[in-house]
Amino acid sequence: MRGKKTRGQLIVLSGPSGVGKSTVISELLHEREDIYFSVSFTTRGPRVGEADGVNYNFVTREIFEAMIAGDELLEYAQYVGNYYGTSLKLIEEKLAAGVDVLLDIEVQGAAKVRQKCPDACFIFIIPPSFEELSRRLHGRNTDGEDVIAGRLEKAREEYRQIPNYDYLVVNDKVSQAAAEIIAILTAESCRTKNRMNLVEGV
Ligand code: 5GP
Repeated sequence: MRGKKTRGQLIVLSGPSGVGKSTVISELLHEREDIYFSVSFTTRGPRVGEADGVNYNFVTREIFEAMIAGDELLEYAQYVGNYYGTSLKLIEEKLAAGVDVLLDIEVQGAAKVRQKCPDACFIFIIPPSFEELSRRLHGRNTDGEDVIAGRLEKAREEYRQIPNYDYLVVNDKVSQAAAEIIAILTAESCRTKNRMNLVEGV
């Protein structure tokens, strides 16, 4: 059918732990209800306020390793001692149905997606400063000092991957960060290659 979008856009969002990605994502999904957020699988335990099947699918190491062995994951990575991964089947179904899919994944996983899905849109989100990141991680009040130190160190490593991303968003104000991401996605959807189904007479 002319005008019908054929395949959904895969959107990859990365950024250091504590940058406020979840809050920005909530705001984004509120504005763009048509986007499907891929709920990852992880072996880490739930934080206060997190629900199974909503923030993550919380699973044991045994189950996660069985998913790896069964080739069920688009990508996975170990991050500060835990596994995190994306179910291939679910997102493939959504993309095939023309639905845009959002992944919140760290840089190693994003690198794997870049190899497998070069047409995906890669967005990196940073805090206004490292001091602010440290403040936000402490303010979360859920992780111990050693975990926070590990996450800050990890953030420094992750920053080296920023040049591999298509877009950089600074999360100073959540509404502004979400608005920038919406603008990016609008621009992506207007790319010629994504609009050829609208062109007549060729
Ligand atoms: P957190 O423990 O703070 O929820 O997440 C830690 C990191 O894991 C974040 O950078 C987050 O983006 C990343 N992450 C969450 N889900 C996935 C996933 O499915 N795959 C990968 N590679 N990283 C993920």
